[in-house]
Amino acid sequence: MSAQNVPQIPLFINGKKVSSKSTNLRNVVNPATQEVLAVVPFATIDEVNQAVESAREAFKTWKKVPIGTRSRIFLKYQQLIRDNMKELAAILTAEQGKTLADAEGDVFRGLEVVEHASGIGNLQLGEFANNVANGVDTYSILQPLGVCAGITPFNFPAMIPLWMFPMAIATGNTFVLKPSEQDPMVTMRLVELAHEAGVPPGVLNVVHGGEEVVNAICDHPHIKAISFVGSTKVGTHVYNRASLNGKRVQCMMGAKNHAIVMPDANKEQTLNNLAGAAFGAAGQRCMAISVAILVGEAKDWVADLVAKAQTLKVSAGVETGTDVGPLVSKDAHKRVTGFIEKGESEAALVLDGRKVQVKGYESGNFVGPTIFSGVKQGMVIYDQEIFGPVLCISFAANIDEAIEMINANPNGNGTAIFTQSGAAARKFQEEIDVGQVGINVPIPVPVPMFSFTGSRASKLGDLGPYGKQVIAFYTQTKTVTERWFDDSTVATGVNTTISLK
Ligand code: NAD
Repeated sequence: MSAQNVPQIPLFINGKKVSSKSTNLRNVVNPATQEVLAVVPFATIDEVNQAVESAREAFKTWKKVPIGTRSRIFLKYQQLIRDNMKELAAILTAEQGKTLADAEGDVFRGLEVVEHASGIGNLQLGEFANNVANGVDTYSILQPLGVCAGITPFNFPAMIPLWMFPMAIATGNTFVLKPSEQDPMVTMRLVELAHEAGVPPGVLNVVHGGEEVVNAICDHPHIKAISFVGSTKVGTHVYNRASLNGKRVQCMMGAKNHAIVMPDANKEQTLNNLAGAAFGAAGQRCMAISVAILVGEAKDWVADLVAKAQTLKVSAGVETGTDVGPLVSKDAHKRVTGFIEKGESEAALVLDGRKVQVKGYESGNFVGPTIFSGVKQGMVIYDQEIFGPVLCISFAANIDEAIEMINANPNGNGTAIFTQSGAAARKFQEEIDVGQVGINVPIPVPVPMFSFTGSRASKLGDLGPYGKQVIAFYTQTKTVTERWFDDSTVATGVNTTISLK
């Protein structure tokens, strides 16, 4: 289908869909079929300014809206997301490629944050200390910052926007969202549903675009905080540029997640978990397992892992029984197959997914499960984030050697150990320098009562998305020290000291 016959995705400003005046358009393409689904306009700077202005105006009233009213909007919103789950998943699969079941998972992990936001009355609480001095009390209040912004990646177009705007809005801020230009359609549907749930005009706005729009967000004097999720290169740029402009910034970035496999691990469960975490979503998860370190006798499991990976069905996300969908774009396909080509001269390619044939979807961006064995530090396939269905297998003589390898890697998003030994698991949990740890759990993304706690090169900024940390991120703590005089208070004269008297 030609791009002329498809809808243009609107911006969302002040509660309305707005047709962009931009002539800079990009196709949104189904990665399994190459069908052009829509065109997305890269907003003009004037349109970015309008979105921020709309959010700034809405903040004046939204910040005063009672907690209960805010909470009820999110209660309604979570129900609307549930009611529209199938439609949301279908849009997501069409533009992103992952399987329908995994698309529902993408929406569901975001829905959990919406549920959490509906409990805002219990989350945004200050503290109170009685009698900090004679007749003096101190309390703290957590006030919203103002206009906040979110910049999201292509790989979770439902979950990651939902990490951001529900908590920002629930805490009393207003928001400008810049979704991934590769798959903005499901994000737009979620924004529509948020308005149907009662989010007032101007509280949540959307602009589309790439570098220019992101830079405008980093520079805008009326944006107070930015939440970014995406690659390390872009996240570092956003962090530096927006921080220099005085903004609060959190950036969740790239990864290389290792799993340690101890020889005492439950073999069948471990192989299932590794295959799911390495090849699910075609390896396009920031928490995907991309390196498995087989310890001691577990070195003999390579052939079994290859056999397990070969059982996975590669096809379009809409096809029943699909395990591995296409990569998001032709560019991603080129990048991933390029890494495999490089890897061939570095390590043993024991399973090659490049030649995969998918009947009925010959033009899809498919790469099947791919496994390299004998991978070491210093190899390109180890040092770079491949972001595709490629698993690197390394070997270690013992757990100390495996932990040392992981701690030497700059990234710190996620890691896991497979073992039946409590002592080994506890040693791992204590000694590993990675922010999110799984024990027989391959993708330990925390549920929203905790925060997403990636670390080291995978994160810039101290506070993570959702959970308690994000309440601190989206609010300014104000402390109030108060004294009330009654008629019996005895005047003690002028106090020229710093002490509270
Ligand atoms: P990306 O960095 O290319 O894009 C992220 C956002 O930045 C998009 O909205 C994009 O429009 C914008 N952008 C792209 N190039 C830009 C530029 N030059 N200047 C300014 N803005 C720019 O990331 P992606 O490819 O969409 O997503 C995949 C990456 O995201 C992987 O590295 C993955 O590990 C990471 N990721 C991390 C987490 C996490 O929680 N740590 C979660 C999901 C994805």
